[in-house]
Amino acid sequence: MSGQVKGEKTYRGIAVSAGVCRGKVLVLHRTRRAIVRRPLADDAIEPEIRRFEHALVRTRQQILEVQRRVAATMSSSEADIFDAHLLMLEDRVLIEEVLKIVHEQKVNAEFAFHTASERYVNVLENVQDEYLRERAADLRDLTGRVLDNLLEVKEAFSLRNLTDPCILVGHDLSPSTTAQLDKKYVLGFATDIGGKTSHTAILAHSLDIPAVVGLQTITDELTTGDYVLLDGYNGVVIVNPTDQTLFEYGQLAKVKASLEEKLAEVQHQPAVTLDGKAIHLSANIEAQHDVPAIMEHGAEGVGLFRTEFLFINRESLPTEEEQFKVYREVAAALKPNTVIIRTLDLGGDKFASHLQLAKEMNPFLGWRAIRFCLAQPELFRAQLRAILRASAEGNIKMMYPMISGLDELNQANAFVEKCKGELRAEKVPFDENLDIGAMIEIPSAALIANALAKRVKFFSIGSNDLIQYTLAADRTNEKVSHLYEPTHPAILRLIKMTVDAAHANGIWTGVCGEIAGDPVLAPLLIGLGVDELSAAPAMIDQVKYIIRRIKLSEAQVLAQAALESESPTEIFARCVEFARQNAPSLFENRA
Ligand code: PEP
Ligand code: MG
Repeated sequence: MSGQVKGEKTYRGIAVSAGVCRGKVLVLHRTRRAIVRRPLADDAIEPEIRRFEHALVRTRQQILEVQRRVAATMSSSEADIFDAHLLMLEDRVLIEEVLKIVHEQKVNAEFAFHTASERYVNVLENVQDEYLRERAADLRDLTGRVLDNLLEVKEAFSLRNLTDPCILVGHDLSPSTTAQLDKKYVLGFATDIGGKTSHTAILAHSLDIPAVVGLQTITDELTTGDYVLLDGYNGVVIVNPTDQTLFEYGQLAKVKASLEEKLAEVQHQPAVTLDGKAIHLSANIEAQHDVPAIMEHGAEGVGLFRTEFLFINRESLPTEEEQFKVYREVAAALKPNTVIIRTLDLGGDKFASHLQLAKEMNPFLGWRAIRFCLAQPELFRAQLRAILRASAEGNIKMMYPMISGLDELNQANAFVEKCKGELRAEKVPFDENLDIGAMIEIPSAALIANALAKRVKFFSIGSNDLIQYTLAADRTNEKVSHLYEPTHPAILRLIKMTVDAAHANGIWTGVCGEIAGDPVLAPLLIGLGVDELSAAPAMIDQVKYIIRRIKLSEAQVLAQAALESESPTEIFARCVEFARQNAPSLFENRA
């Protein structure tokens, strides 16, 4: 069938899995289920409830089956995604709400279930936190299954029956759909919605299939059979590419392939500058399933384990035991490399729905991170005990987020001492010498770094927050994104001040905000004296590549010039020039 698009047309979205592919598309249209409201007679209510329960049981069996299939063909971490589906399926609050609607309104189960679950999905879809928004897709996937079972809809089309290679296009590809993909027949995929942390993206990565998400209307624009080129590096889908475009992409593919070869060569080499300065290069992770990527990219352990993701995609707090198992698993897998676990940083733009916290006028300036933990002793205690216990089984360090002054640091340390005392009394092993650090992400912390440095073993600069708090530019508000400047002289001075205070007190400083993973800015940070860089696993190769091609002495000259400059734009331009001169291969495809 020929498509609606005649000439070449380009759609831009978010690149989530690298690679370029071309071929015919198969458009998976959203199933539109007709949910009618059916009034029930009094004696039909109990049978209706049994029908609902039967649909839940059937859904559970289906999920377990998909999970088994995924575990057999992919890693167990991909199969873990379905644990979240099972948890949602067993959510008593949702089930009770459905039963209440059936009883009180005397209506059919699909109508009641649709009403209750849509309420949840809408709340999740409208929160600011990208990660939580992605969970709405999981919930939709699950509720679709339950509704299909209630409506007795048979699977209209199974991806397991594909016979020709194609590029899949869908509104969203749910984990259960993605799990059915056969790499032989699926060249790539493109979706209307989604973001970098969506499970669709995670699965695409693990399947190593090029993917672009967030294309907004691509399902409406394309028709099955249209010929497209999908660029998973730049997040672009081109329909009816001209010969010229195909030729250019042929060239681009060659350049990319040669860059990837160069990056692969350094993957397991040390991150050392040409004049012998070793930089500790580690990775930022959100969950245990990120561990294989760390190893693949040759990072030296974890510089930031954001533990809040253990708390937010669920209905109750994780127990000490549950947390202990996760921390232990990560630490044991990466031993002898270090894993720096950050204590809980809830608040700001990250909320746990089940904690029912009051809405705040300025959440980034409010009850967030260490402030929240110090006020929630039981929650903090469970996490500290879990981290301490896991420290017996790997090389763990711990750091506190959002330290604004000495008092908070002292209180947090006192808390840790109390937990240590308990564990000693219980004869539970832990690392007595566990290093504790402070994140420097509030200007006040940088300004008193000298005092903080006497009480911790390391600093980790959270530049994402340090920039927003210093420049008063909300990191989530696109209207002030032009003010969010990493090369602002004020930021560079705070970083320098932190590094100098650390070194004067014999401790080290890392950077774990996004700038640490930017090959343009990494040399500047190294020149400012930073000892460790911690970045998303996918950025490790590029950062290591540039580290191995620069001299510390020249990075120091760059940093000195930057510290003397008054202009963020000029500093940034110098950084770009420095990076391009030293590692031109990294920039061949950049504008
Ligand atoms: C930071 O603020 O730079 C940081 C690493 O922490 P988060 O992004 O989780 O706030
Ligand atoms: Mg932060």
